[in-house]
Amino acid sequence: MNSSVQTVPVLIIDDERDIRDGCERILTRMGCQVAKAPDGRQGLEALERELAEVVLLDLKMPGMDGLEVLKRIKQAWPQVLVIVITGFATVETAIEAMKLGAYDFIPKPFQPDQLRLTVNRAIERLRLTQETERLEKERLRTLSDLHTEKSRLRTIISALPQGLLVTRTDGQVVLINPAFCQMLALAPQTDPGQEVSCYLPDPAACEMLRRVSAGQNGPEEDAPSLEFSAPGERHLLAQATRILGEDGEGLGAVLVLVDVSAFKVLDQLRSEFVAKVSHELRSPLSTILLQLTLLLGEGAAPQAEGQRHLLVRARERTQGLISFVRDLLDLSRLEAGAGRQGPREVRLEELLRAVLDAFSTQAEARKFQLVLDLPPEPLPTLVADPVGLESVFNNLVANAINYSDDGGRIEVKARAEDGDLKVEVSDQGFGIEEEKQALIFDKFYRVKNEKTRFVTGTGLGLPIVKSVVESLGGSIGVRSKKGEGSTFTVLLPCSGGVTPTQ
Ligand code: ADP
Repeated sequence: MNSSVQTVPVLIIDDERDIRDGCERILTRMGCQVAKAPDGRQGLEALERELAEVVLLDLKMPGMDGLEVLKRIKQAWPQVLVIVITGFATVETAIEAMKLGAYDFIPKPFQPDQLRLTVNRAIERLRLTQETERLEKERLRTLSDLHTEKSRLRTIISALPQGLLVTRTDGQVVLINPAFCQMLALAPQTDPGQEVSCYLPDPAACEMLRRVSAGQNGPEEDAPSLEFSAPGERHLLAQATRILGEDGEGLGAVLVLVDVSAFKVLDQLRSEFVAKVSHELRSPLSTILLQLTLLLGEGAAPQAEGQRHLLVRARERTQGLISFVRDLLDLSRLEAGAGRQGPREVRLEELLRAVLDAFSTQAEARKFQLVLDLPPEPLPTLVADPVGLESVFNNLVANAINYSDDGGRIEVKARAEDGDLKVEVSDQGFGIEEEKQALIFDKFYRVKNEKTRFVTGTGLGLPIVKSVVESLGGSIGVRSKKGEGSTFTVLLPCSGGVTPTQ
């Protein structure tokens, strides 16, 4: 006997007391909760009071006819299973009862086993129905959960302040959010479905997204990003990330747009501030340097040794400050894009000669041999900002002098090579350890060792050089060995024509 049977309420409606009591005994032993009624009316009242799950119903009763009772039960409680019992079993009444919704039929007289079997079947059927209903409810709840989850995700995506665009592997757009439309001045309800270029105005951003969607970005550029200008003087930062499926297969990409206009303005303010402060500092510092130089000059009154030492230190520090201010000014000029404004045809031979001339006194004082190695034929023309270009070679030659012991050879060699202009600045100075060579182009990086300890500097010279060279479409590299010297190589694309230099 299983536990679910015990709790099943059964109602017996029969006018024969013996049948009622007999059935009650059998069913109670089976564990059912049994109620009894002697006629149809009382049976219906009993159901009103307390609903049964199974009803044993006699068809032939005084008063209300069994078929009528069956009809009413099915009308009011369609889920109740009615088993019809009658001594006047005919095929017609059986068919009639089944038509009215009876679950089963037991002819009188019947054996206890027969009753047990039929009631058990009814209970089993009840359980199956209940289980089916439970599963159906669960299915509906899961569906509604899914629906809620989906609309929750949709709400979150719509509320994101960042612009969002999702593509398939072929670059077709499958999702865009309102922030994306707003950032790019698209209609608020723009539909996805087109190729990326219909939504993104910047060709480079489109190309980046297409590559990432198709999985063509190299492993080194995990989530490539770039900045571009958008309508309404906006600056947007776009970052693309590949979407992978559960098995690691590419499904497309997601592009996130962040409005960086405010940062741009701040950055510009910072650059302007640095430029202004540097500019304001330059003249007083130059005056101080001049005065210190006069105090230490030949015509000045002689000072005690201690005082002279202090003045020499002060002059060195002032010189250091002046070169720091000059670097800061160069840097802010570059950040403002000044290096790329007003390019002109430059004669590299003349420019290099002028640079080396400017260092001649300093080189002589420290017994350096400054050598300019030019080819016999004129070098091709270069179109560039001459001030920026001069700062490149000024920095490289100044470093060659600063990071060498007195008396070495410093050579500047220029050649035309494979459509490029190649300029090498070599020294026989301190050299740079291999592991530090990649770092010296970072802002504020300085190599610290016994040799460089006494050289004042800012760590800004080489970043400026690199930035100018790259703005001209060129590149810079270094070969160096500690203790033996360094060679910095600048490659610049030339404009083609040849200008006579003499
Ligand atoms: P700074 O000279 O103001 O320190 P740079 O950016 O010009 O800044 O150079 C960065 C660092 O690279 C220097 O501090 C120095 O250690 C190293 N370096 C640059 N040029 C040379 C060179 N010709 N020989 C040896 N070390 C150099």
